[in-house]
Amino acid sequence: MAGKMKAALMMGPGKIEMGELPIPEYGDDEVLVKIKNVGVCGADLEFFKAGRIGGWVLEFPHVLGHEPAGVVEAVGKNVKHLKSGDVVAIEPGKACFKCPTCLEGRYNMCPEMVFMSVPGVFGAFREYLAWPANLVFKTMSGTDTADACLAEPLAVGIHSVSQSGIKFGQSAAILGSGCIGLCVAQVLMAQGISEIYITDHNKVRLDKAKALGVKHVFNDHDVDVVAEINKLSCGVDKVFECTGSQKAAAQSIGMMKTSGVMVVVGMYGEATQPVDLNGLLMKEASIITSFRYCHNYPAALQAIGTGTIKVKDIVSHRYMLDQLQEALTMNIQNKKDVTKIVIEI
Ligand SMILES: [Zn+2]
Ligand SMILES: [Zn+2]
Repeated sequence: MAGKMKAALMMGPGKIEMGELPIPEYGDDEVLVKIKNVGVCGADLEFFKAGRIGGWVLEFPHVLGHEPAGVVEAVGKNVKHLKSGDVVAIEPGKACFKCPTCLEGRYNMCPEMVFMSVPGVFGAFREYLAWPANLVFKTMSGTDTADACLAEPLAVGIHSVSQSGIKFGQSAAILGSGCIGLCVAQVLMAQGISEIYITDHNKVRLDKAKALGVKHVFNDHDVDVVAEINKLSCGVDKVFECTGSQKAAAQSIGMMKTSGVMVVVGMYGEATQPVDLNGLLMKEASIITSFRYCHNYPAALQAIGTGTIKVKDIVSHRYMLDQLQEALTMNIQNKKDVTKIVIEI
């Protein structure tokens, strides 16, 4: 499909302009998707602010966004499971699917991973996107693309809960009540886990958690969350650390019960973090990690399509594509009022 499309071009740190790009060509194993909605992620905010995240340094112009959903416009000649008009969510990490790690099934760890919107890979804040068909997932009928784009953070939540190995009847604490923490909470509740503790220093986020049905919410500014949670629980079985902060990492170890498991979900600004190894040892506790997602999109879309998980309730703000600069700036300046922004293309 020749022609031009609208795109939000990042021209430098803090600067986005509406512009045009050619509509991408699609290969035999690819799908051309007309993007309808894209979620705004913390990584987008970091790139927008600084033009870089750690060793990832953007060159301009660049296109951000890696949480897209839309409608299939056209399919390559080898694509059998999708057709034009299908409503889809797009998984943003192109693994090689050939290396030993991919062949083991753990493709989120692929060393050849090409992730949408990192330096050199244009992201989804534009009208059309060509992407490998095996990473494009059809939604259940009736699913709105504004909900389907949240399959990405929900997949993060599903993967982390599955990594944790939590069993029915066990307890969980979630540190950080932002979009990912709220997704983790909803996945846990959907799996029948009822004893859930969530902490944050942000009232708006904690109110969201409460509205979604989380039983125990604690404001880290007001109380000693470790003491409060230990008082009620004698320590929890699984702790999901979703903040990426050193303080929360230390709290995680403090609130685990004997043989507890801390699941690192958040990413840390500084890679090296002091860990209380004696604290871990004295509980024979473990730290495990959960990176992005792997085979989780179908479950995410099923949970969204059936209404089992209400991703809509996580969204706090909606903007149009040509307001992207305003949306990202607002998110950075009013972090405490934002749980999730969804952009409409
Ligand atoms: Zn994201
Ligand atoms: Zn691979």
